[in-house]
Amino acid sequence: MVFAHDTEVALTTAAALVNTAAEEERLPDVAALDAFLTERQWTGRREGTRAELESVWALRPRLRRLWFAAEDEVVASVNALLRDNHALPQLVRHNEWPYHLHATSPDAPLAARMAVEAAMGLVDVVRTGELGRLRVCDYPDCDNVLVDLSKNRSRRFCEAGCGNRAAVNAYRARRAAAGRQPAHR
Ligand SMILES: [Zn+2]
Ligand SMILES: [Zn+2]
Repeated sequence: MVFAHDTEVALTTAAALVNTAAEEERLPDVAALDAFLTERQWTGRREGTRAELESVWALRPRLRRLWFAAEDEVVASVNALLRDNHALPQLVRHNEWPYHLHATSPDAPLAARMAVEAAMGLVDVVRTGELGRLRVCDYPDCDNVLVDLSKNRSRRFCEAGCGNRAAVNAYRARRAAAGRQPAHR
């Protein structure tokens, strides 16, 4: 583990949220947002309204910029996210999870909780000097973001299957190259 478990969850969730703003909208309606939250095991209040969905949409570009910004700019944004959403870190324990940090109450608006969770994750990244772990997928034309949580900083592809696609391409390229070699006798 590179960071504390709750930090890693916060970062991968933030990346996944950012990546829902793809060419084809991945959170087109309230039901899609609900499915995303359930898949990511989000707790706390959900209104299931259009306004809530729109506030989540509005958060995504703000989070995405964190992947491309220089350190001082990340710090300014993270501090603003924490301040604007009245973050107050508290250790909590709920469901089956051990003690971890929450910095908003469970009945704060969803987008505020998402913003603060992402910001809290970024706090750890910045203060350990690990911003280099926030990267963009290496697959051609994929601009999904990723968080490299591997020990040896070797992660290159996003969660959306680009790693598999790259492996298949590499396999085909090897087969094609082998096919061009003179046959063995
Ligand atoms: Zn929790
Ligand atoms: Zn990708």
